[in-house]
Amino acid sequence: MKPFYIDYPQEKVEEHRHVYRCVYCKILTTTINGLLENHSKDCLYRKQQTQQDRLECDSKSSSKHFEPHSADEVD
Ligand SMILES: [Zn+2]
Repeated sequence: MKPFYIDYPQEKVEEHRHVYRCVYCKILTTTINGLLENHSKDCLYRKQQTQQDRLECDSKSSSKHFEPHSADEVD
């Protein structure tokens, strides 16, 4: 997991100067504050990141189970 999630697509808020929000959930960047859980629950970016974290977690745990030494016992 990343400590901060700041690589989500942002768009400028028309009514305000220097104010940006997430393209998907329209929540202001100042409200999100770099935290994934501050995006809306159905935000596409949040879903993508959550999925990515799960995948990284899976690959880490599966590599732990793999033992290269077991190949010696086969012969
Ligand atoms: Zn969002």
